[in-house]
Amino acid sequence: MDNRPETKNAYPSRRQRRNSYRKPRNKRSFPECPICNQSVKFLLTAISVGEDNRPAHFDCVLKLLSETEDLGPKEKITYIGNGNFAIVSGKAGKNLVIRKKIEFENRESKSEWRKLISRNLKNR
Ligand SMILES: [Zn+2]
Repeated sequence: MDNRPETKNAYPSRRQRRNSYRKPRNKRSFPECPICNQSVKFLLTAISVGEDNRPAHFDCVLKLLSETEDLGPKEKITYIGNGNFAIVSGKAGKNLVIRKKIEFENRESKSEWRKLISRNLKNR
């Protein structure tokens, strides 16, 4: 798959080297998505992942689920609310059939970051 010539990465470019010691020190206002390692800027649409309930991008979770779940040719993963996803087939509204419900978020231990959001929303 990777056909790049070997010489290309022999020396780290100037830009790569600069980035390696410019760690985001004062930029840790956003949590890091455990799936793609990018910052999660919109916690309202984030989904808790793993035992430590870290916020992950909604799109990343969707992608992860569609890769790990065994989907039929006409099936897709969709979000059905409350931290739950489902494998569905058919068209939304009319003939939507839920084949399997995926309880993705651990709702027993509600994540700290989500509690913070709801607190912020209430204070508005
Ligand atoms: Zn992500």
